[in-house]
Amino acid sequence: MAWFRRDKETDEKPQPANGERRVRTEGLWQKCEGCRQIIWKKDLESNWNVCVKCGWHSRIDALTRVKMLLDDGEFREFDCDLRSSDPLNFVDAKPYSERLRAMQEATKMADALIAAEGTLAGRTVQLCSMEAKFIGGSMGSVVGEKIARAIDRSIAQRDPLIIVSASGGARMQEGAISLMQMAKISGALMRLDEARVPYISVLTDPTTGGVTASFAMLGDLNIAEPGALIGFAGPRVIEQTIRQKLPEGFQRSEFLIKHGMLDAVVARPQMKSYIAKALDFFCGPVTP
Ligand SMILES: [Zn+2]
Repeated sequence: MAWFRRDKETDEKPQPANGERRVRTEGLWQKCEGCRQIIWKKDLESNWNVCVKCGWHSRIDALTRVKMLLDDGEFREFDCDLRSSDPLNFVDAKPYSERLRAMQEATKMADALIAAEGTLAGRTVQLCSMEAKFIGGSMGSVVGEKIARAIDRSIAQRDPLIIVSASGGARMQEGAISLMQMAKISGALMRLDEARVPYISVLTDPTTGGVTASFAMLGDLNIAEPGALIGFAGPRVIEQTIRQKLPEGFQRSEFLIKHGMLDAVVARPQMKSYIAKALDFFCGPVTP
């Protein structure tokens, strides 16, 4: 368990000093994938990685997401020491155990999810945030167990549950054990529902496969970020199966809300206030 606080942004745009001709700008600018314009990286970061010019949502990591949603960026983390035991001794291009080690090194996370408890607009919530960079944000035994335990805490403490998905689906290196997480989490969510504690699912780019097919679509509210890829199978597989060309924007948030698959599409800078309002509606206003 650990506590974090968001650092104050102190960096300023570099100004060329007198007599100094060159300014180091490497890595300070970023090209927006939406409008192709060059954007000052700090401007982008201070707007939660949403382009200030066109509104394109770049991906953010699991930790930034937690800090964005919880008051003062403060939270208590659970089950950080849970690790996959590589039950199948799986080897693809390289052994799964090696892949895990390399990912843990690169992301400083034990697996693809942060389970946090904190307050959102003054209300205690259980928040799970997925990390797409950790083996594609795939759901194995650790992700499944951390979510199931977060649901148990939600039921015991009557804290609303929020899960932010960013995932390629089940983790093939854990085979059927990763698929079992879908049933385990769905069962736990049913108990949460019976306890009448609200669950808000936030779908971000990308949310696909077994994650979409289980908890990401089981929220009392299913909210997506603009432009997020959300689906079960990929478009190529679907095209080959149904032998039809898929429509423009298929499997993106805006297409899905038009076809009744989502409750809302909410821009990232408004996400926290939107969730706070929804929880006020579900649970009544926060009592001090
Ligand atoms: Zn842009």
